[in-house]
Amino acid sequence: ESIDVGKILDGLNQSQRDAVTSDANILQILAPPGSGKTRTLTSRVAWMLANGINPSTIIVATFTNKASREMKERISKMIGGGLENRLIIGTFHSIAMRYLRKYGHLIGIPREFGIADTSDSSAIITRLIKRNKYSTTDGSDAGSLRSRISMLKAKQQTVDEYILAQKKTNSNDEFGKIYEEYEKELKNSNLLDFDDLLLRALDLFRGHPLCVSNIEAVLIDEFQDTNLVQFDLMCLFASKRNRITIVGDPDQSIYGFRAAEIGNLNTMKQVYPDTIVINLEENYRSSAAILHCSLEVIEQDKARPQKGITPTHEIGISPILRKLPSPDAEARWIAQEITRLRALTGNLFKFGDVAILIRSGGLARDIENQMNNCRIPYRLIAGTKFFERAEVKVVLDYLRVIVNLNNSEALAKILNVPPRRLGAKSIQGLVAEAHKRGMPIWTLIKKGVRGDLTFETSISKPGEQSLGQFMKIILDTQNLLKSAKYAEQDNVAPIIESLLQKIDYRKHVESHQKPGEDRWVHVEELIVQATEFCSNLAAGIDEPDLPDTDAEGNTTAEPKISAALAKFLSNAALATAKEGPEVEGGEDGEGVLTISTIHNAKGLEWPVVFVPGCYHGSIPHSRSEDTDEERRLLYVAMTRAQTLLYMSYPCELRDRKSGEKQESSLCDFLAESKLAPLMLSKGPVITSQSIASFSKIMYRECPTAEKVKETLKASQLQRQDDWVESDDPPGTSTRSMPMNGYSAYPSGGSGIQS
Ligand code: ATP
Ligand code: MG
Repeated sequence: ESIDVGKILDGLNQSQRDAVTSDANILQILAPPGSGKTRTLTSRVAWMLANGINPSTIIVATFTNKASREMKERISKMIGGGLENRLIIGTFHSIAMRYLRKYGHLIGIPREFGIADTSDSSAIITRLIKRNKYSTTDGSDAGSLRSRISMLKAKQQTVDEYILAQKKTNSNDEFGKIYEEYEKELKNSNLLDFDDLLLRALDLFRGHPLCVSNIEAVLIDEFQDTNLVQFDLMCLFASKRNRITIVGDPDQSIYGFRAAEIGNLNTMKQVYPDTIVINLEENYRSSAAILHCSLEVIEQDKARPQKGITPTHEIGISPILRKLPSPDAEARWIAQEITRLRALTGNLFKFGDVAILIRSGGLARDIENQMNNCRIPYRLIAGTKFFERAEVKVVLDYLRVIVNLNNSEALAKILNVPPRRLGAKSIQGLVAEAHKRGMPIWTLIKKGVRGDLTFETSISKPGEQSLGQFMKIILDTQNLLKSAKYAEQDNVAPIIESLLQKIDYRKHVESHQKPGEDRWVHVEELIVQATEFCSNLAAGIDEPDLPDTDAEGNTTAEPKISAALAKFLSNAALATAKEGPEVEGGEDGEGVLTISTIHNAKGLEWPVVFVPGCYHGSIPHSRSEDTDEERRLLYVAMTRAQTLLYMSYPCELRDRKSGEKQESSLCDFLAESKLAPLMLSKGPVITSQSIASFSKIMYRECPTAEKVKETLKASQLQRQDDWVESDDPPGTSTRSMPMNGYSAYPSGGSGIQS
């Protein structure tokens, strides 16, 4: 068969080609943002496929599920033939999950295990604190205890080790007990939390190396943010062939707060002394002005080694730094600016070309308000994710119980939803009683309802009756999964629908919403998602079966549809970790604007990027202890921009609780850079030339003169310095001048409107 190798190498520069085609077994590609690391990694996968390596023996770890999907699409374009669908590709968590589903029984993990997401974990811990009356005098809430446990797990410190260490120092803190009981609770409910997925996969591969003995190559994107467990997984995946390619950028390491281990880059060189390092130095993403500005920020880190980075685009437009009176005014300004920008450039920029990147989810509220006011369609990748919406979560919890009756976590949450005359007290009582008797809640209520035991918890007669009805609904749905009618089908949507009907869920949702709200659409969306997931599954797209290399065999037949449901649920749980589903929206191919946390924007790019909230306390965040990591975070945000970068901050904040006003100041990263005094300008000067330059960066793969002309015709540009703001809100800066050394005009000087 002939695969067109040209398609794989076309358009790459020499160092990228060298990296793609390198014979080296262990390869580190280290390079700055926008230098084509991800593109190179993708091409290397295609290259391996073209060289006859079996796709189902290649592991590709990306940082988000979305990144995996994009990578598959690109590979498909390069080599076609559907090979990309057989790759073992996904986040570390989803890859681990797939191995555990298939081979977990070898280390005693029942196939129907559920996944505890962060909110489940916090709920467990909250309950433990209450049950044992732990004094959390040090001020730790459930959330911070949870992340402390997660940190320990990510460093592979088990409960036993932790407690042993405690004993040695004769200290006996309550945290150790909480950690211990938390682990027990997970086990009893047959749940794994996110860290467990990775840790248990390690156990599996260590104890049963056959599971991964077929792996030919491992490729990892965003390696700077892997943790110690992921590093060990990488080594185990590579144990047969020692063929590893990683790409990364130490300057973009932003997950230290979650135990990412920047030292992994060096450890890798020690573990594999024949590691070859390739550097890429050309930046293909951003205008030179944006690139220079971002370097001004990152280079404040004096410990950082100097490195080369060359722009490939012209200077473009200076980034804008803007001071506004309040967060609300800041949001309003952003919305106006987007509208104005579009008008001036003849809608050259679609809504989908614009992103607003925020340090933390809390900053989204004002921005969302203004987007709504100005009818700018957007999606939010922060805060409550789709699968975490209350009305969606309830459905998922029902399904989780149906898949695994011992999932007491999920069970406790749905016992009284919709209301079944069981008060919060009764439910708490049942949870406590189940714990005391050492049985899952399901077993307790089963025995109680059948009269095999007498509830110690006081439950009203109607309450007890409805417990019986609840059990019937769960069991009926379970039977449906096994019934001849459904067992061999793979779409779970009809089962979900029948369940929702039985609990009269629509009525419940609609009676619990504010006027004007439509929460049922989210439930409908969930059903659409399920259908889509299942049809991808059937086509082998989302989760092709792992190869049967396991000599110990594992084919206890499971109805196809139950397997599909379990996979859908794990998929939903893992999605909450990083992202929601893609939201379609906007008209006429306009796409929708993205509002995202900086963390979630990693690896992505947009023509126009706004970074609001650049004030001290937001970035660096008041709760962060690692200033260097915060600086890198700002650097990541700035380097997402291709042609226009706006940064801004409000000079006054209002305390959310007390309502008191508080002054705020520009963050040091910007204040201390040479840029700050010069950048307090009004808005970019848009010229015919800047439009041409935008087009060149944005449409690099299909630059057409036609497009530029068309845009110019549509734009409202009259004169070269056309874009000047009129009414300035009080207290804002009015300086408007090009940055020192960087012209605000694209190279080639001034241009007159054609
Ligand atoms: P980050 O560190 O932010 O993840 P990256 O190094 O992974 O960035 P990519 O996302 O792979 O960079 O590439 C950035 C942009 O540059 C993409 O739009 C990509 O298509 C483009 N690009 C990469 N290499 C080239 C090239 N040789 N010629 C033209 N464009 C390129
Ligand atoms: Mg990348």
